[in-house]
Amino acid sequence: MTAAAGYDVIVLGAGASGLMCAAAAGARGRRVLVLEGSPKPGNKILVSGGGRCNFSNVNAGPEHFISANPHFCKSALSRFSSHEICALLDRHHVRWHEEDGGRLFCRDGSKKMLDALLAECREAGVVIRTDAGIREIGAGFRVAAECGEFHAPSLVIATGGRSWPQIGASGFGYDVARQFGLKVISPRPALVPLVFDAAGRRAFGGLAGLSVRVRVSCGDAVFEDDMLFTHRGLSGPAVLQISSYWREGEPVAVDLLPQMRLDEAFPVWKKDHPRTELKNLVGRHVPRRLAHCFLEGLPPVNQMGEGELKKISERFHNWKIVPAGTEGFEKAEVTRGGVDTTELSSRTFEARKVPGLFFIGEVLDVTGWLGGFNLHWAWASGRCCGQCC
Ligand SMILES: Cc1cc2nc3c(=O)[nH]c(=O)nc-3n(C[C@H](O)[C@H](O)[C@H](O)COP(=O)(O)OP(=O)(O)OC[C@H]3O[C@@H](n4cnc5c(N)ncnc54)[C@H](O)[C@@H]3O)c2cc1C
Repeated sequence: MTAAAGYDVIVLGAGASGLMCAAAAGARGRRVLVLEGSPKPGNKILVSGGGRCNFSNVNAGPEHFISANPHFCKSALSRFSSHEICALLDRHHVRWHEEDGGRLFCRDGSKKMLDALLAECREAGVVIRTDAGIREIGAGFRVAAECGEFHAPSLVIATGGRSWPQIGASGFGYDVARQFGLKVISPRPALVPLVFDAAGRRAFGGLAGLSVRVRVSCGDAVFEDDMLFTHRGLSGPAVLQISSYWREGEPVAVDLLPQMRLDEAFPVWKKDHPRTELKNLVGRHVPRRLAHCFLEGLPPVNQMGEGELKKISERFHNWKIVPAGTEGFEKAEVTRGGVDTTELSSRTFEARKVPGLFFIGEVLDVTGWLGGFNLHWAWASGRCCGQCC
């Protein structure tokens, strides 16, 4: 039997947060080992933003994150702004640009981001082992992996959430938290398409492929952006955003025409276009297929009573659907829930009850909105932890 190799810090997971943390710890002179279960590091960075890597957002404040403990993210976000990650990219001559909503993208694709992080790790002397297949974590932190046995006084769990299991995501980080007696808030798919029930699919399946500007709400959460009809339900940025707030059985309300009010337009149309069918009048403001699907068979506007028009306006501006569910972790961009942040220091990310054990990134119960916030959280939590672990 060979003796376990010793390091100062072992990081589990060579994803966004793990690589950032390893580089920061290595830069402090710590001997750092990163163990990655997949054959290659940074899979999720590579697929992010459809390969364009929406790596941060200039508005990355706490109001763009969801957590049972909304104060937790404040400390790291105040210490790590989007300037820090842009500066890292500049150091490695990676070109980036800003798009609407403050979203920051790599100009030449996600691989440039991963290359920059791997270069940071190399410069800091970090050792990365892939295909590591963790078998067991013991006291003192002894880690038994497929590629050998290792130990370190600091163990950082950066294994991400459960979304996209097809590229290596697992519930492993939650198992580690439970093993050490820490609470886990039930993980759920977030930033995920919603699906109709059978009746909804029959009624609206024909609209698949149609994109509409909408205002969508669920409880107190409201987003105005594009919504996409799919064969199974609804997607697009507005729906992905609201999915992070939706719970089974709750209705989602959609304003299909947020830029105007139909109840204000009806009297004008009655006067100016009395013999035009309503679907054609509304079809001037929304895609025709949508207007026809909702208003097929209705008579010209001058033949319709006030009450009927009021109902139509309500249906368009407050279309209520109760989704049958979501497309699940396979299609979810992130995982909501995770390791309960009340168990951790918001400054160091160390578990209060287990000195030396740290959790960072998406494995935590901190979920960002769409728009670069989730990768920003991975960098911010990774850098802050790497300065302490
Ligand atoms: C398709 C897609 C597109 C996205 N696009 C964006 C975007 O443009 N902008 C944005 O902000 N966010 C985006 N996200 C979300 C973002 O990628 C994640 O929130 C972020 O990568 C989380 O970082 P992390 O370090 O916590 O986890 P990850 O980056 O997922 O890294 C975790 C690592 O741990 C490894 N691992 C898992 N289990 C084990 C184990 N048992 N042993 C060893 N290693 C293990 C995994 O293989 C992985 O490499 C996207 C997500 C998806 C799925």
